Amino acid sequence: PVRVRFCPSPTGNPHVGLVRTALFNWAFAKHHQGTLVFRIEDTDAARDSEESYEQLLDAMRWLGFDWDEGPEVGGPHAPYRQSQRMDLYRDVARKLLDAGHAYHCYCSQQELDVRREAARAAGRPSGYDGHCRDLSEAQVEEYKAQGREPIVRFRMPDETITFTDLVRGELTFTPENVPDYGIVRANGAPLYTLVNPVDDALMEITHVLRGEDLLSSTPRQIALYKALIELGLAKEIPAFGHLPYVMGEGNKKLSKRDPQSSLNLYRERGFLPEGLLNYLSLLGWSLSADQDVFSVEEMVAAFDVTDVQPNPARFDLKKCEAINADHIRMLDAKDFAERCAPWLRAPFAPWAPEDFDEAKWQAVAPHAQTRLKVLSEITDNVDFLFLPEPVFDEASWNKAMKEGSDALLRTARENLDAADWTSAEALKEAVLAAGEAHGLKLGKAQAPVRVAVTGRTVGLPLFESLEVLGKEKTLARIDAALA
Ligand code: GLU
Repeated sequence: PVRVRFCPSPTGNPHVGLVRTALFNWAFAKHHQGTLVFRIEDTDAARDSEESYEQLLDAMRWLGFDWDEGPEVGGPHAPYRQSQRMDLYRDVARKLLDAGHAYHCYCSQQELDVRREAARAAGRPSGYDGHCRDLSEAQVEEYKAQGREPIVRFRMPDETITFTDLVRGELTFTPENVPDYGIVRANGAPLYTLVNPVDDALMEITHVLRGEDLLSSTPRQIALYKALIELGLAKEIPAFGHLPYVMGEGNKKLSKRDPQSSLNLYRERGFLPEGLLNYLSLLGWSLSADQDVFSVEEMVAAFDVTDVQPNPARFDLKKCEAINADHIRMLDAKDFAERCAPWLRAPFAPWAPEDFDEAKWQAVAPHAQTRLKVLSEITDNVDFLFLPEPVFDEASWNKAMKEGSDALLRTARENLDAADWTSAEALKEAVLAAGEAHGLKLGKAQAPVRVAVTGRTVGLPLFESLEVLGKEKTLARIDAALA
């Protein structure tokens, strides 16, 4: 049975790279009716925070992911927070030391730095040089007498490591490129290098799908796995698949610190989780050559990690928005109206709560649904209905109000005053006729009316908007613009 894991460290805000990793693991698990283990890698007390942990959980829920084992749901390998598993890691480190798979390393940072520089200068590999691999007892006694505190270092076997990456195919690492590495700090704190593969082993993970940035740790983890198997602590080495880098602006790797990568930003702008997931799935994968827009169910049904492309994927915000817009259009009307609700209230909405009018909102919602890229745009599109006066910005005003606009507005007002206000079509006729009287096509004639009434040069279909706003307010606003 397939067992995959999503194992973020709770540092900072969730970002889109993390979401893509979660999505691919989740889809892989679902596709194979396997198990998704959600594990929290919080062994770095200096960087981890409870707030970030809460945000991770909240993000997972918002995205609609479920997990079979992990925080809140528990499971046979609980606890799923590494900070609560420290005894376990200590025990494994002890066993690795006893079996000779690991050793105490007394080198100081300064000594390491000096030797690394020298190796570099001589053109030799600059990783750990094995200095403490086979210390004599006398040497160890001397180091202890000097008060040195050792770290625990894993002894890499002197062999080439080859594995078949699910995304990249066969990869080979030679021993010079994979030196012995630290697994426990001098203060006893276990490192990612130990706890991550140990938990993968204990939790019987079958497939490790993660970002390309972790590729260099894979040969180390495979060697550690072999040692764990020998010790009876692991059954089988999992398969590994490394997901491609995501490139942002200027073809630079999208980093956690990039504002564009923060999940919160997408939530606040009103991306639908299904729109965002659809787009993120395209970062390395595709459903088919001619279908960009699909549901997560369709993705799950088709998802095969060996179809993931190894070359870097480019994050394209425009495309992300376009796909989100498609998902907005696909919502049923009631669902759309409900999902807009947060942006129709404080702190997003600029109008007083008592000025909001549910009937008016329901009347324009269908027109908005076909136009929004992200839900937050709803506020600007409907504010003219609920604010006592439209918000004018000078640029829009100057763009629409030309010479002759006053004359046009006066005629339009007269025609609108006489029109049948139960029909948007009749309101259109009224403005059309005003335009004709002044030698203007409809587009030119409606621009000053739109700005006078809504404050903006673009927005929902104008005549439907006027009908919903009502005769009295429409005429009053035209009067105000003329004053
Ligand atoms: N906690 C690690 C990270 O967030 C997990 C890496 C892995 O998937 O092995 O980078």
